[in-house]
Amino acid sequence: MAARRRVATGGGIGGGSPGVTGDRPPGEAATLVMVNVGRLVTGDPRLPAPGVVEDAALAASGDRIVYAGPASGLEVAIGPETIEVDAHGAAVIPGFVDAHTHLVWLGERSEEYALRARGASYEEIAEKGGGIRSTVAATAAGTVLELATAARARARRMLRLGTTTVEIKSGYGQSLEAELRQLRAARTLGEEVDLPEVVTTYLPLHGLPDGDRAAYLEEVLGKGLGAAASLAGFVDCFCETGAWDVDECERLLVAARAHGLRAKVHADQRSHSGGSALAARVGAISADHLDHAGDGDLRGLAKAGVTGVLLPGASMVLGGPPPPGRRLLEAGVTVALATDCNPGTCWCESMPLMVSLGVATAGLTPAEALLAATAGGAAALGLADRGRLLPGLRCDALVLATPDWLDVGYHLGANPVARVIAAGRLLLP
Ligand SMILES: [Zn+2]
Repeated sequence: MAARRRVATGGGIGGGSPGVTGDRPPGEAATLVMVNVGRLVTGDPRLPAPGVVEDAALAASGDRIVYAGPASGLEVAIGPETIEVDAHGAAVIPGFVDAHTHLVWLGERSEEYALRARGASYEEIAEKGGGIRSTVAATAAGTVLELATAARARARRMLRLGTTTVEIKSGYGQSLEAELRQLRAARTLGEEVDLPEVVTTYLPLHGLPDGDRAAYLEEVLGKGLGAAASLAGFVDCFCETGAWDVDECERLLVAARAHGLRAKVHADQRSHSGGSALAARVGAISADHLDHAGDGDLRGLAKAGVTGVLLPGASMVLGGPPPPGRRLLEAGVTVALATDCNPGTCWCESMPLMVSLGVATAGLTPAEALLAATAGGAAALGLADRGRLLPGLRCDALVLATPDWLDVGYHLGANPVARVIAAGRLLLP
């Protein structure tokens, strides 16, 4: 029989004994106990943002948190299998939830990057057959193995930077089979235990196809949605001048409901093209980019309960108005920050950098930016079980290399993450 000892006694967050949830009976030994947490960022909405508890401890049983609160209140059983982690006074924050990426691609566009730096616009490059078209040509020709291999290296970098859940879209196929190969590659990564958990999104309306766009849309509606339904949780569209218009996107998002795919929209990124209003109208789970959304659009998102996903890396690379972080919060919209990791407008795996940019360019406070990168990302993916460090939720936690959680945004371009715990398991180092 396992030897047990109790670690201190007292109450957890919200008072009372720490709750033991899931199918593990109370009293079963914790599988992970973390002590000497200088500042624990819980995201608890009952505390001042971002929900900091000083001199704290964290414990998990399996993939669930059973205690998150003051060290003085920690009371869990310790067994021979329990992993004990000493945070040595560091800050601990929830794992990042990167809710918008295009991680599966082949080829590269460094030349275009240099062209843009000399003044060529996204639209001008696209008209010359560059831009997204070059990524589509390379990616559509790839096998699932080739696609997964390329994306795996990016996903590993994400994990090292603290991302424990990542959303991955298709969108570089523009043929039924090529789109499905991208989703299969993304799901391959999702089955690997030493990578972030993967959520997949079918993005059939991204760049325009070479052939008849109407025929392509009919094929997506007739066959694509049904085939993608077993490989993805969401459907998405690039609703933009020069890409897909509101009517085409609306047909897709409405038809997707019958296949259980919830809507996401690339909305009002390059122009005020109606994507935000569409997202509100169809009850999308998120509207993403929003750089050109008006105040009325933002009020519409709030009313419809749509999460606003800001991609400040892409906004910075492309130029244009600042991401409307402050305006979204004032309108009452839940805000998420994400990398938009993609080969054209933002090759970046770093959520810490997005926190920095969220503060520097989107008008968010450091606390709001950190919550947007964790709980906000979870909201944009409909994942109520993560993004905060509270009993009953998934134990996705980052031990920082600093005692101060503010350093996540403050230390521009750095990796503040020392150790990564995902689903209650110590993954790094
Ligand atoms: Zn995107």
